[in-house]
Amino acid sequence: MFNLLTVDLEEWYHPEYVKNKTLFRKEERIQHSLKKTLDLLNQHNLKATFFVVGELVEKHPEIIESIREDDHEIAFHGYCHEPLWNLDAEALCAEIKKFNSLIGEKCAGFRAPSFSLDNKTKWALKVLENSGYQYDSSLFPAKTPLYGVWNAPTTPYKLSHDNVTKKDENAKLWEFPLLVYKLKFIRVPVAGGFYMRFFSVNLVAKAIKKLNQQGVPAIIFFHNWELDPQTPRLKLGLYRYFVTYHKLKETSKKLEHLLSEFQFTSIKEYMKSHARTNMTQ
Ligand SMILES: [Zn+2]
Repeated sequence: MFNLLTVDLEEWYHPEYVKNKTLFRKEERIQHSLKKTLDLLNQHNLKATFFVVGELVEKHPEIIESIREDDHEIAFHGYCHEPLWNLDAEALCAEIKKFNSLIGEKCAGFRAPSFSLDNKTKWALKVLENSGYQYDSSLFPAKTPLYGVWNAPTTPYKLSHDNVTKKDENAKLWEFPLLVYKLKFIRVPVAGGFYMRFFSVNLVAKAIKKLNQQGVPAIIFFHNWELDPQTPRLKLGLYRYFVTYHKLKETSKKLEHLLSEFQFTSIKEYMKSHARTNMTQ
């Protein structure tokens, strides 16, 4: 049973609580953190999906070559990491075109910065479909202070353009929602980032097993900057500091644990091998 490993490839200054806080020249750490990421994946001999922030490629074109050399999937994570809440259809369309011309091809997958796909930003689905995308992985099916759609499906589905929580078999675009642990009336977000750092790795493993028992792949993610011990720490408010940097050093340990216990691949590979099924068999 394969699960799906995704990397949100961005700089340490892209996350929502950090951006606009850097007054001075921003230190570029991408080469270091990308190397750490690729090394980790190579050690476990697996392929992952990289959701890449466009402006990184503009500054460092060589990062695309490094990802391609190791045969990972390249997907899109917004041009400047601007959430969909701050964009419109025209702006997203322009971002996609700019990214495609930078990488010299169209990609199949999209992840909205800050998981900002919800019913207010469902206009993005038409743009993605018209731009040739095959899937989206932006829905966080639990409510968190910053994002999340608490009643969205928790297994891969074709999503309705009228309501992101509804399935539509005639739709073209697949949705790969992020992993949550379901307890009777509660959904605990455990897929990655702060939530994977905050909760125990055993809870994440339990959530993966629960899905796999139903024949469903779990979708997890991490950020390259979470693997970099020198990620700059900014002075933020107490809450924002906690969410952004809490237990950063544990990310690689937890990932090591999960990558050893479970099998993972990229979303593209998974879709290829499940092209004739409903993605969950
Ligand atoms: Zn991101």
